[in-house]
Formats: sequence, C-alpha cells, structure tokens
Amino acid sequence: MDFCEIKIDIENEHKGLFSTKNYSKGNLVIGFGSTKVVTTPHYLTVQIAIDQHIHLSPSYLQFINHSCNPNVLFNTTTMELESVRDVIAGDEFTFFYPATEWKMSQKFDCHCGEKKCIGLIKGAADTSIEILNNYQLTDFIQSMLIEKGNSIDSKD
Ligand SMILES: [Zn+2]
Repeated sequence: MDFCEIKIDIENEHKGLFSTKNYSKGNLVIGFGSTKVVTTPHYLTVQIAIDQHIHLSPSYLQFINHSCNPNVLFNTTTMELESVRDVIAGDEFTFFYPATEWKMSQKFDCHCGEKKCIGLIKGAADTSIEILNNYQLTDFIQSMLIEKGNSIDSKD
C-alpha cells in the first residue's frame, strides 16, 4: 500500500481509500485480481462477466466507494485499476458502480454530493443510456449494452 491509505469517516464509520500520490487521467494505479469468484453479486464484488463477480485482491480495494464523479475505473479487461481523471494526493479513490455492475445486489441512494449526482444508484441495466454515456464503462458493460440494443458513444 505505497500509493494509498484507508481512512475512516468518524461520523458514519465508513471506510474509504485515499490516494497518497498524484495520477494523470489514464494512468495505471494498480493491477488487481480476485480472491474468489462468485456467481451472484454482493455489495463488495466487481462484475467481470455475466455470472462472474470477483472479491478483489488486494482486498483493501473493496474500500473504494462509489461516486457520480469517479476518478478510477476497475478495468476488468486489463485487470488494472486506472485513473479516469486526474487524482491528487489526498483525494479519495472513487468509481462509478454502474461502470462495472450490470445488475446490483442492492440499489442505494447516493450521497456523493457531486453536482451531477444521479441519486438512486442501480446497475447499468437499469440506468439510462444518457447517464451511462457520461462515463467510461468496462468492455463487459459496453458489450451488454450492445446486446441490449443500445449503442454508446465512445468517451475517448
Ligand atoms: Zn452521487
């Protein structure tokens, strides 16, 4: 953990993972793998295929929270955590749940406080294409959208 630290919000005891380094958009933050692959989603898993959800390794990556203005993506093709915008030392690492999750085990109300917060967070299957178009998504989610009949604009 030479690039990050876990911090606990004393108000709600939520843990978060914070960067101790600077990254430019598109940088590799860390490679990841799985400690276990399961067939049903859990709130700590990341989806890599239709019936495959991984428990992350290194396990502290599970403390990366959702934000509607995320700064990293779990790229499940390269198995690399990459920055999707600039990250400055001290920033909390955050990702956009529907960028990797097709259906989520539990929907939740987002309180990220970002201007463009989308409110109720659901999997990509239940999120509008207009919203998804604003985000970098995994190849898996993009392929699911194409299968579902939606084409998406590439962000880069
Ligand atoms: Zn939000």
